[in-house]
Amino acid sequence: MIKENKELTENIAIKAMPLPEKAYIPLIQHIGRPCDILKVKINDTVKTGQLLACAEASVSSPVHASISGKITAIGEYAHPILGKSTAITIERDINLTEEQFPLLDKSRINSFSPDELRLLIKNAGIVGMGGATFPTHIKLSPPKPVDSLIINGAECEPYLTSDNRLMIEESEGILKGIEIIAKILNVKNIYIAIEDNKAEAISVFKNAILNTQYTIRVLKTKYPQGAEKQLIYSVLRRKVPSGKLPLDVGAVVHNVATCFAVFEAVYKNKPLYERLVTVTGDILKNPGNLKVRIGTPVKDLISFCGPLKKEAKKIIMGGPMMGIAQFSDDFPVIKGTSGILVLSEDEVKEAQEGICLRCGECVKNCPMGLTPALISMAVASEKWDLAKEYGALDCVECGLCSYSCPVNRKIVQAVKYAKTKIKR
Ligand code: SF4
Ligand code: SF4
Repeated sequence: MIKENKELTENIAIKAMPLPEKAYIPLIQHIGRPCDILKVKINDTVKTGQLLACAEASVSSPVHASISGKITAIGEYAHPILGKSTAITIERDINLTEEQFPLLDKSRINSFSPDELRLLIKNAGIVGMGGATFPTHIKLSPPKPVDSLIINGAECEPYLTSDNRLMIEESEGILKGIEIIAKILNVKNIYIAIEDNKAEAISVFKNAILNTQYTIRVLKTKYPQGAEKQLIYSVLRRKVPSGKLPLDVGAVVHNVATCFAVFEAVYKNKPLYERLVTVTGDILKNPGNLKVRIGTPVKDLISFCGPLKKEAKKIIMGGPMMGIAQFSDDFPVIKGTSGILVLSEDEVKEAQEGICLRCGECVKNCPMGLTPALISMAVASEKWDLAKEYGALDCVECGLCSYSCPVNRKIVQAVKYAKTKIKR
């Protein structure tokens, strides 16, 4: 059983992080094409929420200024997934007043057509906030009708609690976001799925959905319950076949934080320039759930939640199972940053990788029924067709194979690598 370690932050209310002196906005923070049309140049003054860059490509998402100030650089900067990418640097000007995004009138919202809503969501740069970062407007344009909308409040990844806090503190906004998504998709069956380790969020939502057609599905706490295909099976008992998408079984899944971002985009005309981030780990004196501007350097978050009780050995963007280990704390928060995990030497398993024992533990634990050991062997011999045959593309990157391997084989890294090779 995986240790959850959520007690470090699950009862800590959301706190707004002070605005950074500088924000670094990468031109790619989503699945798809990077933004390649710049709307600003060096020395321009920008206001919070202003469009910085976008793309002609349909599978892309625009990026916006997260603070008001001056553009001081456009060039290569650290990126938590890609290593490096082009980013726009904004230096904050404290003399500029922060933009306000007041609530629009409800009757105005009701008058928007599904196409108008999609466009608002697209222009606001909304992407899947659970970490997938797929542009939301595309997910809201399924090529065939769907009958069920599942709202993902599982947050099954250990340590992370920002979705839980959002459900407790912002249920009204989440429900308004769900209403908008349901209108666009024209679905009647709406399920809000929450794991049973989130009693307060469940109780808040049970009250909030009275007099609506929504159904709460309380799920057993079980990693990786929040992975789309697992969630669809748990809620609807529908299996998404290998190589198929949720919409092939009539379902669409959206994360609770995405619903909240949709609410802000439509009700406030507010682009996605900030998000909640759980900053956690035993060695932080003041871990928490922070509302952070996109582009804020992660070292600022760690120092805000410090001081450190011990030296940090590892920094992970995301959680311990699906997160990405970083080389340093010098990288910006991006739209997909749900958590920052800071671990000491004692918590980092640095054991040597051994030879496969053929024990079958990785096979037993794989939620997708794959044979991870065989895929990693195919990767070792660069046999991409074989890796594909073994089902590498069905991997949900949950990390359970590596976690369960007694000789610390880096299986999930191998499977992820195979996926990038096969897709080429
Ligand atoms: S990460 Fe490993 S256990 Fe998880 S789905 Fe992929 S192969 Fe299976
Ligand atoms: S768990 Fe590790 S040792 Fe066991 S079969 Fe899988 S890769 Fe081999």
